[in-house]
Formats: sequence, structure tokens, C-alpha cells
Amino acid sequence: MTGEMSLPKHASVVVIGGGIMGCSTLYHLAKQGVQDAILLERNQLTSGTTWHSAAQVRALRGTRNLTELIRYSISLYTELERETGQATGWINQGSLSIATNEDRLTHIKRQEALAHLYGCDRSGVVAG
Ligand SMILES: Cc1cc2nc3c(=O)[nH]c(=O)nc-3n(C[C@H](O)[C@H](O)[C@H](O)COP(=O)(O)OP(=O)(O)OC[C@H]3O[C@@H](n4cnc5c(N)ncnc54)[C@H](O)[C@@H]3O)c2cc1C
Repeated sequence: MTGEMSLPKHASVVVIGGGIMGCSTLYHLAKQGVQDAILLERNQLTSGTTWHSAAQVRALRGTRNLTELIRYSISLYTELERETGQATGWINQGSLSIATNEDRLTHIKRQEALAHLYGCDRSGVVAG
């Protein structure tokens, strides 16, 4: 936050930086009942790298754990507007990968196999 403001004398948790990581950390602390956590932002909320993000969220990641993390994020983004009443701009649209050669098609088929293995249910390969 910018401008003059008085800070509390005590906080059980101080989160430094109001990008997606800091905001998410504070949100989850609050959800777990931590009532006196504060977030300090030197500039303006989300004005750092988060401001530049294209905000694309790929469901499939290189490992099962990362894919699980993203799955949680997607369910959170889906619920956030309902929970907070604030529009997030979240659009759950999926993506299209196009293979222009055999190697690329092999790669996409591997991705599809991984997607099934990790429980991503909205992928499909159509070979033309
Ligand atoms: C062009 C671009 C496109 C991207 N597109 C995507 C995408 O499509 N999908 C995706 O998942 N990721 C994308 N990313 C990556 C993503 O934006 C970053 O990984 C993410 O925003 C990092 O968030 P952060 O909270 O760690 O950092 P930041 O957003 O940089 O937040 C850090 C904050 O800390 C504050 N701060 C720093 N030091 C202090 C201090 N001493 N005291 C108080 N405050 C401080 C800064 O002012 C800043 O607001 C993209 C990145 C770029 C640059």
C-alpha cells in the first residue's frame, strides 16, 4: 500500500510483497484463521511481475505434484469470484496444440498420455 498509514505494533505473520505469491499467502493464512497477519507492499498491489503476467494457466505440468498444485489453483480461481464477490476475469477455456510435423505429434501424444496419467480429463489428440 502506498501513502501514510499506521502499521500494527504486532503481527504474527508479516508477508513481504503483494504479488500473486504474497496475496495468495495472506489469503490462505486468513482462511486458516490467522487474523493478525499483514502484507507489506512497497508500491501497489500486484504492480510487480504479476502485473505483466498473461495469466495463462496450463493444467498439465511436468510432474504429478505440480499438476496437483495447478489443479488446486484452478479450483480456487473458479470459486474466488463467488467467494469474494470480486470479478477475477478467470476464463476456463482450455487450449489447442497443433502439430505441424511428426515429432511434434509424438510430443503432443506423450503430453496426452501424461494428462491421462495425472487425471487431467479434458485433453484429446486428433491426428489428421
Ligand atoms: C511478460 C510475463 C508474462 C507472464 N505470463 C505468465 C503466465 O501467463 N502464466 C503464469 O503462470 N506466469 C506468467 N508469468 C510469471 C508470473 O507473472 C510470475 O511468476 C509471478 O507474477 C510472480 O509473482 P510474485 O508474487 O512471486 O512476484 P511479484 O509479482 O513481482 O511480486 C513481488 C512484489 O513484492 C514487492 N516487493 C519487493 N520487495 C519488497 C520490499 N522490500 N518491501 C515490500 N514490497 C516488496 C514488489 O513491489 C512486488 O509487488 C509471466 C511473467 C512475465 C514477466
